[in-house]
Amino acid sequence: MSGPLPGFFAPWVIFAAILGLHLLLPARRVVGYVRHELTDEPLRYRLNGLLVFGVSVGLWFGVGLSGVMPWDWLWEHRWSGAAGALTLGLLLSAAVVLTAPGGGGGLLRDLYLGRRFNPRLFGGRVDAKMFLYLAGGTLLELNLLSFASHHGLTFPADPSPGVVLYVALFTWFLADYFLFERVHLYTYDLFAERVGFKLVWGCLFWYPYFYAVGLWSVADLPNPHAPAWLAVLATVIFFAGWTLARGSNLQKFHFKRDPERAFLGLVPRTLSDGERRVLCSGFWGLSRHVNYLGEILMATGLALALGRPLALGPWLYPLYYAALLVPRERDDDRRCAAKYGPLWERYRERVPWRIVPRVY
Ligand code: NDP
Repeated sequence: MSGPLPGFFAPWVIFAAILGLHLLLPARRVVGYVRHELTDEPLRYRLNGLLVFGVSVGLWFGVGLSGVMPWDWLWEHRWSGAAGALTLGLLLSAAVVLTAPGGGGGLLRDLYLGRRFNPRLFGGRVDAKMFLYLAGGTLLELNLLSFASHHGLTFPADPSPGVVLYVALFTWFLADYFLFERVHLYTYDLFAERVGFKLVWGCLFWYPYFYAVGLWSVADLPNPHAPAWLAVLATVIFFAGWTLARGSNLQKFHFKRDPERAFLGLVPRTLSDGERRVLCSGFWGLSRHVNYLGEILMATGLALALGRPLALGPWLYPLYYAALLVPRERDDDRRCAAKYGPLWERYRERVPWRIVPRVY
């Protein structure tokens, strides 16, 4: 079949396959952090992200090996694929919002931010938010592999090591998310956001297509023969960022589950108002959102890994992260100030830096 239709519907088919795998493959059943709006019971989740991710990559590999589709099929159909994912994201966003009762906040606002907090499908077997992240992250990985394959097939004699490094680091980033999927049950999207365009369209289109913008922009360019030190620098920056992001997320996860538990051998130091506590040691003593600095550093490492530091395309990804996370920190800070009151004031005094210690 030729023309734009196969590409357009490819993400629809891939998302349906990921949903099937998520439903059929064995899953851990865990209790989350978010509570049911009516019963106040903690929500329960079926988590098998890493397994679904691994099987999807295996299937992509098998299809390529069998010769049914070329390795770079998703690259060849990237524009129609992006259009299909964008359309599906819009349709599903409208469906999930318009089928819920209005919250009185205005239609446009509802369409963007959503009305439902934690929609669940298939009798509670699928949590919409966790599935959206699973679908977006898995298609992103398949796109990256396909874009890198295109590079390898176009320049078989002299492929860029930067492309390999970029895909390896991004695969780490995604596999790490799925490995620690449970930790993400304790994050802002899960407990503070509703399901609307921002989340649905964001996960189904923006995540799998825009996040690949670095490789998208350089996959059909030849090896830049970047110096080895640049690859080393990119890797060091990426893992410095990963240490900050993963470390802080894990520290908070353990603290929320057991406030006395030591993390990396350190007993948590906290501020308390007699009723509630916030962490002020370890990663959470460096800045109030050092995890966001970690994400921005990882994105910077990825941009540098491609070995073209003067090209604009790879930088769009870290720039987007800065544009996303700086206002998000302000939102979260306001939310925490409202929730914790004077206790948050004390935390702000104790840890004055928002994101970058001693700078911002
Ligand atoms: P956080 O994980 O920083 O969560 C913020 C919440 O944590 C606060 O609302 C508060 O909630 C609690 N909290 C904040 N400070 C403290 C403290 N000192 N002690 C105890 N609890 C505290 O933010 P996000 O959920 O936004 O981010 C989670 C991860 O996801 C981050 O690593 C982030 O960078 C990443 N991320 C990745 C994106 C991507 O596209 N790859 C996009 C956005 C985020 P409570 O009411 O529970 O106390």
